[in-house]
Amino acid sequence: MEKDTSAYRAHCLVFAYPAQGHINPIVELSKRLKHKGVEVTLVTTTFISKNIQKEVSSIALETISDGFDEGMTGQIENIQTYLERFERVGSKNLTELLEKLSRSGRPVDCIVYDPFLPWALDIAKKFGLVAAAFLTQSCAVDTIFYHVRTGELKLPLRGPEVLLPGLPPLEPQDMPSFIYNWGSYPGPLDLLVGQFSNVEKADWVLCNTIYELEQEAVDWMSKIMPMRTVGPTIPSMFLDKRIEDDKDYGFSIFKPNTDACVKWLNDRPKGSVVYVSFGSMAALEAEQMEELAWGLRMSNSYFLWVVRAEEEAKLPKNFVEETSEKGFVVQWCPQLEVLAHEAVGCFVTHCGWNSTLEALSSGVPMVAMPQWTDQSTNAKYIMDFWKMGLKAPADEKGLVRREAAAHCIREIMEGERGEVIKKNAFKWRKLAKEAVDKGGSSDKNIEEFVAKLVARKS
Ligand code: UDP
Repeated sequence: MEKDTSAYRAHCLVFAYPAQGHINPIVELSKRLKHKGVEVTLVTTTFISKNIQKEVSSIALETISDGFDEGMTGQIENIQTYLERFERVGSKNLTELLEKLSRSGRPVDCIVYDPFLPWALDIAKKFGLVAAAFLTQSCAVDTIFYHVRTGELKLPLRGPEVLLPGLPPLEPQDMPSFIYNWGSYPGPLDLLVGQFSNVEKADWVLCNTIYELEQEAVDWMSKIMPMRTVGPTIPSMFLDKRIEDDKDYGFSIFKPNTDACVKWLNDRPKGSVVYVSFGSMAALEAEQMEELAWGLRMSNSYFLWVVRAEEEAKLPKNFVEETSEKGFVVQWCPQLEVLAHEAVGCFVTHCGWNSTLEALSSGVPMVAMPQWTDQSTNAKYIMDFWKMGLKAPADEKGLVRREAAAHCIREIMEGERGEVIKKNAFKWRKLAKEAVDKGGSSDKNIEEFVAKLVARKS
């Protein structure tokens, strides 16, 4: 544990958005802040707190109601309803929590909030607190949504190329799906653009990325807002190992099949396993699931495939039984442990931003199969800019056929291109570690953030 040299311990209230891909990085940021001597109270919703499998014992946890204590089905379809009620109920509850902490002698100095809930910034300002937004997507994706908000990017998209300040030329299909398929998901698009609705008032904008990975976008955004890179928010035990008491990770809403996965991997040769996962939300078309299943079989590699309970019925009949010599299908796994395992040679991924950063930080090459939201933009960067994987080509129906999936897997596992990609993966792994190591770009930014909080308090 790094020594707390400050006489004035700053207290951050860290306000998480209740989704797996948002909770994981904000919990890890909380641990890093705590490691630098900050007192941290993590706030999440009542529903999430009832469903987490394991708490992170080193972080104090408070829960508030979002108005949906029994959960909410079809959240994406009803996102507007959800957000409106969360703002109404949650802002009252967050205010009460701040008052309670103040009365109990633990006043808050700063709110680190997920800008999916931009009203948290207004509460911070009302209380005279420092407001720090924590962006959970890549800086390139943030830049795109920022340009939608300012009107620099006009929708629907026109022309064969999208040219935007801070970004390389992109094709329309590299844009996040809510932009490319403009009109099909107005609620989620408003949510993502809304992250920047009041960003001018934020004292800090912390971004879960690595400066060296997205230099152009970060430099551009930093001219507009007080942005600092703080990623990758990967548990220290998998990266820099600087937080000695970092034993608990995975504030998981799903129950991982940890022992069985690790045991299965232990029995496979080094670099022989394809790990497959589409994260916590993506729903594949049944035909896509079937194509991928036979693609995995055609690749002739071992595979560990995460198929969430609600997706299982889409697997081809008898697939699990027929492929049991080669494959292992689970409902949820300890992804970081899996990526860190030497048996894993490649990751077939939906390219969620956490999964992308986790693969990059573990040095595992990727086969990109983006499904929606920011994943197509991440896939473009993985293949063309970071050269850390291959994007599996889709047909005119938007499906990756079995031959294409098997070909990409073989290219990475055995091909010449795979060798180059593996070298790059090794390079990015080193860079990720350096960023959070003492004196690295993200470490320095976190130190600056903490030093300013302490100076303000003293
Ligand atoms: N994850 C996990 N076990 C699994 C699949 C995913 O622990 O079997 C974790 C993964 O490590 C990542 C998160 O769930 O931290 C998924 O976030 P991501 O941004 O990749 O995708 P999303 O779920 O938001 O689409």
